[in-house]
Amino acid sequence: MYDPIKRTRSLEKIAYQGRDRRYYRFRGAKWYGGIATGDVAVCNLRCVFCWAGDSIMDRPQDVGKYHSPVDAFSRLDKIASKGGYSQLRLSGQEPTIGREHLLELLGLVEKSPYRFILETNGILLGSEPDYASALSGFRKLHVRVSLKGTCEEEFNSMTGAEPESFKLQLAALSKLKDAKVSCHPAVMVSFSTKENFAALSDRLDEIDRSLFQQLEIEELIAYPHVMKRLETAGFTTGTSHPPHDVPNDLV
Ligand code: SF4
Repeated sequence: MYDPIKRTRSLEKIAYQGRDRRYYRFRGAKWYGGIATGDVAVCNLRCVFCWAGDSIMDRPQDVGKYHSPVDAFSRLDKIASKGGYSQLRLSGQEPTIGREHLLELLGLVEKSPYRFILETNGILLGSEPDYASALSGFRKLHVRVSLKGTCEEEFNSMTGAEPESFKLQLAALSKLKDAKVSCHPAVMVSFSTKENFAALSDRLDEIDRSLFQQLEIEELIAYPHVMKRLETAGFTTGTSHPPHDVPNDLV
C-alpha cells in the first residue's frame, strides 16, 4: 500500500523540470467527438486497469521527453488545426503533476479558440489547498475527475493506494465546485457493486446536487495488456468492451 502524495513527491523530478513537463505522445483522438491530446507521463496512482502500457507505468523516466508549455500548446494547436478539432486535452497519466506547466498552458489556451479538458484523478486538487482555486480564472477549462471506484474499499483494491485517499478524489470535486470551476465526475464501475454505486450517489449529492446527474460512467476497455494485468492480480470484471468496439455513448 502507498500514499499517493508521497508517491507524487518521489516522481516529481521525472514528471517535470521547472515549467517543462514530460509527455510521451501527442495525438488526435476520437473521444469527445474529436480532440487534440497531449499524453503526459507519470501518475501518482497505479490503477490495475490503467490503459497506459506497462513501460509507461513502470519506467516513466525512459519514455517521452520534456516539453515547455509553449511547445506543448503549439503541438496541440497543430493537431487540432489539421484534424478540425475545437478541443484540446491533457490525458495519459496525471496532468496535475507539474502545476506551473499546467497553469502556463491553460493561460495559452485562454487566448486561443479552443476548449480545454483536463482529465485528472483529482488527488492533488483534493490535497493541495489552493490548487483548485488556482484553476478558477480559466474560462475555457473543464475538469473531468475520474473516480477510481465508488468507495474507499474499491479505490484501494483498484489502485493499491491507501483507501482514505479516495476522499481526496471527492474533495477535488468539492473544491472545484467551491471555486466555480466547470467540472464533472466520472467513475469506473466495472468492479463495483450496485450497493456501493448507490452509496456514491449519496456522497456526491452531499457535495453538490448536480454531480450525480453529471456522473459519467466508465467501463473497462479490454486492451490485452490490461486484461493480462487484471488476470495476474486476480480480478474478475463485470462489463468490459473490446478496444475496437467501445459503445458510442462511452466515447
Ligand atoms: S489515475 Fe489514470 S493514469 Fe493514473 S494509474 Fe489510474 S488510470 Fe492510469
